[in-house]
Formats: sequence, structure tokens, C-alpha cells
Amino acid sequence: MIKQILFLISLLITLGVFTWTINRLYSYMKQTRPFPISDYGKRFNMMMKVAIGQSKILRFPFTGFLHALVFWGFLVILFGSIEMVIDGLFGTDRVLSFLGVFYNIITASGDVFAFIIIIAIIIFLARRLFFHIKRFTGIEMQHKSHMDANIALSIILLLMISLLGMNVYYLILHPDSFEGYFPVSMFIVSNLIPGHALDFHTAHMMHEIYWWSHILLIFLFANILPYSKHFHVFMSVPNVFLARLEPLGKLYNMPEITKEVKLMMNPDTAFTAPTEGEEAPPSRFGVKDVEDVTWKNYLDSLTCTECGRCTSVCPANITGKKLSPRKIIMDVRARMKEKGPGLVKVGKDFDDQKALIRDYISPEELWACTTCNACAQECPVNINHPSIIVDMRRYLVMEESAAPGELNGMFTNIENNGAPWQFSPEDRMLWAEGLEVPTMADKMAKGEKPEYLFWVGSAGAFDDRYKKVTREFVKILNHLNIDYAVLGVEETDSGDVSRRGGNEMLFQMQAMMNIEIMNAYEVKKIVTCCPHDFNTLKNEYPDYDGNYEVIHHSQFLQKLIDEGKVNISDGQFKDKKITFHDPCYLGRGNGEYEAPRDVLNAIPGEKVEMKRNKSFGLCCGAGGGQMFKEAEKGDKEVFIERTEEAIETGADIICTACPFCMVMMTDGIKYKNQEEKMKNYDIAEMVSMSLGL
Ligand code: SF4
Ligand code: SF4
Repeated sequence: MIKQILFLISLLITLGVFTWTINRLYSYMKQTRPFPISDYGKRFNMMMKVAIGQSKILRFPFTGFLHALVFWGFLVILFGSIEMVIDGLFGTDRVLSFLGVFYNIITASGDVFAFIIIIAIIIFLARRLFFHIKRFTGIEMQHKSHMDANIALSIILLLMISLLGMNVYYLILHPDSFEGYFPVSMFIVSNLIPGHALDFHTAHMMHEIYWWSHILLIFLFANILPYSKHFHVFMSVPNVFLARLEPLGKLYNMPEITKEVKLMMNPDTAFTAPTEGEEAPPSRFGVKDVEDVTWKNYLDSLTCTECGRCTSVCPANITGKKLSPRKIIMDVRARMKEKGPGLVKVGKDFDDQKALIRDYISPEELWACTTCNACAQECPVNINHPSIIVDMRRYLVMEESAAPGELNGMFTNIENNGAPWQFSPEDRMLWAEGLEVPTMADKMAKGEKPEYLFWVGSAGAFDDRYKKVTREFVKILNHLNIDYAVLGVEETDSGDVSRRGGNEMLFQMQAMMNIEIMNAYEVKKIVTCCPHDFNTLKNEYPDYDGNYEVIHHSQFLQKLIDEGKVNISDGQFKDKKITFHDPCYLGRGNGEYEAPRDVLNAIPGEKVEMKRNKSFGLCCGAGGGQMFKEAEKGDKEVFIERTEEAIETGADIICTACPFCMVMMTDGIKYKNQEEKMKNYDIAEMVSMSLGL
């Protein structure tokens, strides 16, 4: 009975402290902005795959597998912990043993997992203490972060040792009549402990010591976790369940801006007062401080394991720039810890004369991001870094007009000319000189509705190098008698680069203008060579009633090849080594890795992969507005790092499928003085040349 009372007191203290902590965190969460959640079925599937199945952790086989074993082991051992709580409260012994065979399976798995976890934790601790693992370093990784990790790992180690100790003495106490099955403990009893020599009282005392040590360590661990990076033990499953479902390339809409833009574009639209239940407009655009983030952003910050997988793949960080996506997430948590109590006490007006931007995160970090999504792809708990980075850019641009000068110039060009460069909108069709290219207006005048709109894009219309690609693609369309047309001078910039540069207002204006024209022509299918426009038109225009089937030209060409409409017999590349550079907005942004490779495989020639390819592919350094500005200070430019990787393959050709990648790879080849040895072609050019067009 005394044991039960002591247990009840320990349990109540544990639950009391834990509830207090969670309440405090919840009160901070209530200070943030809303984030809608729906599609629970899809979320469940994602949770099973990413959190329970550990699919992202397993992308790095060795440490990933060890971590996955620890996670799965915890799930199994949780069953035993629940049984211990029941036993502790009611004075029973192995109360769940009535489950028979199931009980044997669970206890046997728990026993084996305890041993595996001990081995894994010793390896993890050794890696942290004796090896220099780059991803565990960085300015955000202070002494406390390392201490947190080491303390948590040590507690897990003690938890597993006490579990095995408890099982061992349970077997010694009940040599002939034990419940469950314990292969590792049985081995220890038979080979390592002279258990039979122990008297009953000593064995009982040892069992009690291990039993209490194990359960008290669980109670202690539960209350230490919320204050450490190991909070992810509780948070990772719910955080993955609540994570975004949209393709990584999509940025969230800002409805408050949509309202303003609609009003600007159609002043006759009467201002409508917010209806009941409608969210009041936020006090500022974008994110300046923690009260501007969504509750999901804050949940992400609590879940972050500080593993550094995001930072280790970030092209900006790899090339020595200040940006570390892990730091961005850790800064949100640290800032809320600082400001949260004041916000709870005083309300939204609380001002401590500090902010997340500048006091924690510098504009230099924010402007270094290429929005390549490598960080979000790797994060094992599905945190999305680029969205919060762009939210902070939105604040800088729309509230402070504090974008880098070159980006401001680019915004002005889009506003005035409908393209990021200073070209007249009237010149949008100059690329087509000498070619027969139908426009939607021509088609409409003849009463025709083409099957496809070929979206040329600003780079396709104005960039000297990419104009050649546009021409080659049109030659393929004409050669195959595809029923298509272009918007011509009616097309204006998609807004992709304005949005990623933080100018949401300009993006939405561009989007709404384009949608108005495309809807007037009753466009249904769009094909484009630009993965950025592909992503924007496909994933972001539906937020403004622009609903189309959008196809990237690599997918379009793949389909034509599959249907037998493109037969390549010319072997002009047959002696060449070709490597493909994955555009971020085609690959990670929208999950398309195979279409360009299938097209390349239809072209005779040797294909080689770069070290980082497909979802591991390294960005070219141009996305997120980078192509229009100087890179932030670092050791190297991203495009040089990527070109060096392509050169390492010994390839004669870097094949790309994106105007931005084309510019960067071309610059990289020039920078490395490889122009004689290496060429850079778009996939459309390779098909067109192979067809002899
Ligand atoms: S999106 Fe790319 S550049 Fe930006 S933080 Fe993530 S990995 Fe780094
Ligand atoms: S954000 Fe994700 S990948 Fe980055 S450190 Fe945190 S948990 Fe790891």
C-alpha cells in the first residue's frame, strides 16, 4: 500500500508539472495567428509515412536506421510503461499479461528494443562527444544545445538499462512462472548473472530498485523534455500530422492582400465589412515578431529536434552565408520564450522594444534564401522553413520597403513593363521572329480554341539565351502539329519572383491580370518551359480562380515520347556524357524527377548523375529572387558549387529544364573556364536538335 501511495504522489507531481508546462506553452500559442487545418485522412497518411514510418529519417541510411529503431522501440516500450503505471496505481504485477501471445510479442520486442536502443544511444553519444559532425555545429548551437542533447541521450540510456535490469530481476524472482517473453534478459540471466545464487530478498530489492528507477526516470524525462530539443519525442507525431499538405513549391496566400488588390483592380467593388466569425485583418503584413507567426510556426519551433539536417543541405549555408534554416526555427522558439510571458500578461500591445527580425534574425539571413526547399524536404518533422522566411520578407518589403536595391528595381520593372527587366511589353513576341507562332487573339478571331496555351514566361520572352530554348520548343510544337497558341503581348510576368521576393501585393496583381486574360480565352491546359511559372500557375493561381491543367515542357515531351509521337533516331549526342541538373521548382517543389530523365533516356548518349541529384539535388542559386540581386557574403557562389559538382561527373553536357538554372549553369561553365569542354542545353533544345529541327 505504501508503494501505491508513493507512486500516486509521484504520478500526481509529474502530471501537475507537465500540465503547468503545457498550459504555459499553450498560452503562448494563443498569441499567434490562425492556421487552418483540414483533410484529416490525408494527414493521417502523411503521419503514418513520415512520423511512424520514419520515411525522411531513413533518407540517410546509417544514422537514419538507428534513429528509426530508437523511435519504433519507444513506441513498443510505451506499452510496458502504461502497464507499469497501472501496476503502480493498483498494486498489481504485470497486469496486462492476460493478453497472452500478444503480451509475449510486446514484451519480447520491448526487451530486444531496449538492448538495440542502448547500442544506438552509445553510438549517438560517441558521435556527439568524440567526432566533429558538421551538422551539430553552427552559431545557433550554443553550449546549452549540446548539453540538452547529451543529458537527454544519457537519460534514455539509463531508461533502457533500468528496463533491462527490471526484466532480469523479474526473471530471477520468477524462474519458473514468469509472464511474457524476454530474450535479451534471459540471455543475461543465464550467461552473465549468477542469479540463482541470489536470495529472494536481494533479488526482490534489486527488482524494486530497477522498477522505481525506470518509472521515476520516465517521470523526470517527461518533465525535462518540454525544455529541451527532445520535446520532439512528444511533438513529432502531432507536428507531422498538422504539417502542410500542399506541394513544397506553393506559398500560402495572404487573403488580406487579395482583398486590397481586388479593390485596387476594381474600385467599384464595395468594401465589405467583416462578417461574423471572419478573422479581423492583421495589424501588419508579414512577420516582424512572434505574435505574427501562425500557431503552426510556433508548434514547429517547439518540435525542432535541432538535428541540423535542414542546415546541412541549405545551399546558402553550404557556401558560407549566414543563413541557417535551423537557426530561423530555433529563433522563433527563443523569441517566444522571451516575449511570450509579456504577451500573455499585457496582450498584443506588449512591446519590449525588440523583435524577431533584426534582434534575432538579420535581413542578411533572410535575403540569402533561394527558396529551394532543400531544408523542408529533409526536415524529419515536416517543418517548412521557406514559408516563414518569405513571411518575414513580406514584412520587410510591404511594411518597411526594405528589400535589397536590385530587387526594388526588379519590382519596378514588373510594375512598369510586366517583366523583371527593362523591356517594353510590346517586345514580348520578338523572340518569335521568323517562326509561325499563333496567338490566342488570332485563334479567337478565327473562332478557334487551341488545346494548349504555351506560357512563354518573362525569361522565355526576354532572356537572350532562353529565347533560343523558347524557339526550339515552338519548333517541336509546330513539327508535331500541336494545337497551341501563346498570349503574346497580352502575357505579363507570372509574379513568381515578386512573391518570393516578398512583394505579395505585386504578385497578386500580376496573377489576377493573367487570370483575367486566360479565363477570358477559356484556357484549360497550359504548357510552359519555366518550372517557376509552372509552380505558380499550377499551385498558386487556383487561390484566385485560375484553375488550369499546367504541364511542364519536360512532362509534355515525355508524354509525346511515350505516345510514340517523337522518335529520335539522330545520334548526335551518342558519344556525349550528359548530366541533368534538377530545377528545384520542378523537383522538390512539385515532385517531378522522372519526366526529364525519361526524355533524356530517349536521346542516345551516356547519362551520369551528379553526387546530389533528384530530391537531394543542389539548387543552382537563382531562385527566391537571387537571380536579380548580388548574393550575400559567403565563401563561394552557389552556382559555382553546383557547376563544380557537374564538372566532377566528367559530363560534356549539363542539361537543364529551367531558364534560371540555364543562366546559372552557363555562368558557372564560364567561371570555371570550361566553355570548350562543356555545354549547357535545355531539354527542349536536345530534343529539337535530335529531331534535326
Ligand atoms: S529554402 Fe533552400 S536556401 Fe532557403 S533556407 Fe531552405 S535550404 Fe536554405
Ligand atoms: S528544422 Fe527540422 S531539419 Fe532543421 S534542425 Fe529542426 S528538426 Fe532538424
